[in-house]
This record gives sequence, structure tokens and C-alpha cells, in this order.
Amino acid sequence: MPPRHHAPMADFIVFQCPQTGMNVQTHLERQPKLQGRSVEAFSCPACTRVHLIDLASGRPMTRER
Ligand SMILES: [Zn+2]
Repeated sequence: MPPRHHAPMADFIVFQCPQTGMNVQTHLERQPKLQGRSVEAFSCPACTRVHLIDLASGRPMTRER
């Protein structure tokens, strides 16, 4: 059996940056679920801003609908 090297401890999530419209992949650290909403803040490498991503839908939360 081949040994596993560097098994990823974090999942990756891909979301569309609301600022640039680019698909951005970032790591998702495993954290205990928050009560109510499962929203995580990610620092966006595309626009260097922080986006709130709804983990349930995988979509960024924006003020405008
Ligand atoms: Zn962004």
C-alpha cells in the first residue's frame, strides 16, 4: 500500500468573487458549525478582500439579491 503524504486536513471550496467575478479556490478550515447560519469569512486572493461565503450553498453572501 502506498503511504499517504500530506493528507489534506482542510477542504477546498470554490466560489465566485462578487468583486471580480472570478472563480476563486480557497481552503476551508474545519471548524465546528456555528449555530444558525454556516457562514465563513474568506480572504479573497482575487481582490484581496474578505467575502462571507454561505457554506450551505457555497455562494458568496452579497448585500444585493
Ligand atoms: Zn473577491
